[in-house]
Amino acid sequence: MRIVNVPLGNRSYRIQVGSRILSALGRECARLRLGARCAILSDRNVAPRFARAARISLSRAGFDPVLVTVPAGETAKSLESVRACYEHLAAHRLDRNSFIIALGGGVVGDLAGFVAATYLRGIAFVQAPTTLLAQVDSSVGGKVGVNLKAGKNLVGAFHQPRMVLCDLAALRTLPSREYRSGLAEVIKYGIIHDAALFDRLERELPKLLARDPKALAAVVARCCEIKAGVVGRDETDAGVRAILNFGHTIGHALETISSYGKYRHGEAIAIGQVAAAELSKAVLGLPVRDVERIRSLFRRAGLPTEVRLSPAQRKLLLGAMRLDKKVSGGEIKFVLVERIGKSVWGRGVAPERIQEALDLVQPRASQASNRTPT
Ligand code: NAD
Repeated sequence: MRIVNVPLGNRSYRIQVGSRILSALGRECARLRLGARCAILSDRNVAPRFARAARISLSRAGFDPVLVTVPAGETAKSLESVRACYEHLAAHRLDRNSFIIALGGGVVGDLAGFVAATYLRGIAFVQAPTTLLAQVDSSVGGKVGVNLKAGKNLVGAFHQPRMVLCDLAALRTLPSREYRSGLAEVIKYGIIHDAALFDRLERELPKLLARDPKALAAVVARCCEIKAGVVGRDETDAGVRAILNFGHTIGHALETISSYGKYRHGEAIAIGQVAAAELSKAVLGLPVRDVERIRSLFRRAGLPTEVRLSPAQRKLLLGAMRLDKKVSGGEIKFVLVERIGKSVWGRGVAPERIQEALDLVQPRASQASNRTPT
């Protein structure tokens, strides 16, 4: 098992990465000296697969868990779900010493964390992420929240988990599209912070696509280490944490204009990262060879790198970017890379430059793709 520490003073916590470690959940929670009553919050895809193991492990360690399930998918990240969860917690008489275990992907993690941040003005919670995206990204760093009709993640808090337990065996049942979507975040860490990780991903991609436990353990732990380091330096997103948004300015805008229907998050940010690499070439002189390595790695991972946009859709996309991110003097702020492994954030980019980058992620006539966002 690999252990990564998230350094946040008296709120520091450990991320554990290993295969078949869900059975150690109870023992590990016991080390945290929490109250006996707890709730496992999960969704309807994950609970039938893993809740029993979590429950048995917790009961064996002397805990009294109740299982709360929500529907699978983004719609569960709502205030209606929050309210339903509160009622379950109250019915099971969870108190100030009680805690919640988030067993699921990023949706369950964000929802459970928000419920934990607010129930009884805040109780402890533990993350047991079961998607690749949640293991390398959303379970670490304490951003929790839910969506409103007006937009994603509009209600939330910073509430750090007391522990993160990444069981790599859980990834075996993850649908391929979800798994590849998580790989987009994995590749992101190499691009923004770690050239050696990027090299490794190029070498070991076939093993990762086969979900080889050894290759996964090293890569998931390294991604967690990078995220932990960034969060340790900037817990509340006031500075360097912005680098984690590489590819997200265009990616989020693509998700918005396609009404979150067409792309998984990882797919949208794969296109966004290729566009951001093209921008980095134009603005910071990122070598052409690095841009091509980035494009090729996403392609090999089975992720989209191109998007066909009509002029009207481009207009919508730029509008969505302006709403999403800070704009100064007409320029939209981007995270860019000088070279693979070295990023800068808060770089204003003129709309004409963004248009040029979008030209470069437009499929050429010869290799026409049907990827349109609407
Ligand atoms: P998700 O939680 O919806 O999971 C994807 C699908 O996989 C769901 O249908 C789920 O039921 C299923 N699933 C999960 N684990 C499984 C398993 N082991 N086997 C089979 N099926 C399984 O989506 P996600 O991609 O994990 O997370 C996306 C969410 O994360 C978004 O709401 C996003 O806003 C959030 N997020 C949060 C942060 C953060 O810092 N808090 C960062 C990135 C993303």
